[in-house]
Amino acid sequence: MKQQPKIIIAIDGYSSTGKSSFAKLIAERLGYIHLDSGALYRAVTLYGLRKGAIGDGKIDKDALVALLPGLEVSQSPCTCIFDENVEGLIRQMEVSRFASPVSAIAEVRNFVDDNLHRMASGGGVVMDGRDIGTTVFPNAELKIFMQADDLVRAMRRYRETSDPGVTFIDVLHSLRERDLRDSNREVSPLRKADDAIVLDNTCMTMEDEIEWLVNLLNEKYGFSL
Ligand code: C5P
Repeated sequence: MKQQPKIIIAIDGYSSTGKSSFAKLIAERLGYIHLDSGALYRAVTLYGLRKGAIGDGKIDKDALVALLPGLEVSQSPCTCIFDENVEGLIRQMEVSRFASPVSAIAEVRNFVDDNLHRMASGGGVVMDGRDIGTTVFPNAELKIFMQADDLVRAMRRYRETSDPGVTFIDVLHSLRERDLRDSNREVSPLRKADDAIVLDNTCMTMEDEIEWLVNLLNEKYGFSL
């Protein structure tokens, strides 16, 4: 494969817009590493649940923050807590429920951002999340903001759910709650960076999205894909 420029591509957007799947495919195509920042918030949440800092529907913020110095998270490419691959466990409904309030804690955000910077230090990275283009990598060469109709997003997420007790309405409510919380929190809220390009994939397939991006990279960033 011809050597491509090594830039940072920041992909932000609402829940279930397919950011991670898109980012993963792009990274494979470019020979880049893919970092899924949401997975790190989920890993912190899982650890908090296991250690009892989250329980009975509540988060003990001080207890959770106290756990952070002793926690090691990584993505290589599966998300690990220490050496344990937790990629499957962090997708459970219980973790999804708490990941958004956990991510609103400033100390948790600093912890995740430090880890993202460490893992991205070599460049050639596609990173997805809610605040990558605004806070984590405000100088990223390419910023994409993904959005789609929320009913379409909920249906996509519902189809992936293996839990028979979860209804479409449960998924829709949880998604709307997360969008609202992510957009209105005090620390690093979800918003489009001024220089981000919007990708609305309500009526697009993944192939359409990749084609859109390949054209953009070739025309504006000097890639030859
Ligand atoms: O993207 P995903 O749904 O896996 O992210 C889990 C949670 O982490 C989200 O609900 C969001 O609240 C939070 N998050 C964040 N900032 C990021 C990535 C994710 O606040 N950069």
